[in-house]
Amino acid sequence: MTTQAEPVSPPAAAEEEPVVLYETHGDTAVVTMNRPSYRNAQNGVMTYALDDAFYRAAADDDVKVVVLRGSGKHFSAGHDIGTPGRDLDVAYQRRAGLWWSHVDQVGAESRFAREQEVYLGMCRRWREMPKPMIAAVQGACIAGGLMLAWCCDLIVASEDAFFSDPVVKMNIPGVEYFAHPWVMGARFAKEFLFLGERVPARRAYELGMINHVVATDELESFTLDLAARIGTMPRLGLALTKKAVNQAEDLMGLHAGMDASFALHHLAHAHNVETSGDSVNGLDAKSMRAAN
Ligand code: ZN
Repeated sequence: MTTQAEPVSPPAAAEEEPVVLYETHGDTAVVTMNRPSYRNAQNGVMTYALDDAFYRAAADDDVKVVVLRGSGKHFSAGHDIGTPGRDLDVAYQRRAGLWWSHVDQVGAESRFAREQEVYLGMCRRWREMPKPMIAAVQGACIAGGLMLAWCCDLIVASEDAFFSDPVVKMNIPGVEYFAHPWVMGARFAKEFLFLGERVPARRAYELGMINHVVATDELESFTLDLAARIGTMPRLGLALTKKAVNQAEDLMGLHAGMDASFALHHLAHAHNVETSGDSVNGLDAKSMRAAN
């Protein structure tokens, strides 16, 4: 059965389109980030709409596999650091943990509570989805966009896709979901972060960071076919296999490593506020785009 794309959430403030769409193709759920005019920059509305969509897919007995994709030319430009729908100070219905709301808090307490919930906590929660998730990546997959692709189990990229984490420009040692050394190896993780440059899909494939590179116009059909083939396996077998591999990654230090680097990440945010008055060192979407 195939269902039409339908909205998961109301539009973000100042926008007309719902920020996340949900549809099914056979036993595959397709979750689409839908802020194409902002390269699918992730704001709070989108974060919780994604969570609603993943929860729905996890709970639906007819769904075996989930695909995450972005509408338009790009998968994700990362966290929203400057669109009209940026909603940093909105109180969310927190679900990733029991940290109190960041709203009305100040300083590092506010930043830590917020990022623990909406970035690190949410990505860890989504990684635990007991059904296989495939990211279909085209165009930009930058900084926070990496987190969305990395918490999926498989990544299929089109030939025009590129990956980068340029946050060292902000003094920040990588995005909140610090999987770099595990997904591309320690040696290349350093170069990836030190340079902050675009890594094309072919190079990401050579590094083992992604599963497939396909022609841009075949991204959707290839990904849906891959999902359908995986979907022929029994649900429990897939869930246990995913858990086994995720546990192996954690035994290789992924979970503890992320906690350790999250502290350094917040040291950098605090340093930036102390020295420049801004937690991202005065860089906005425009200046980050210029750097990318
Ligand atoms: Zn941060």
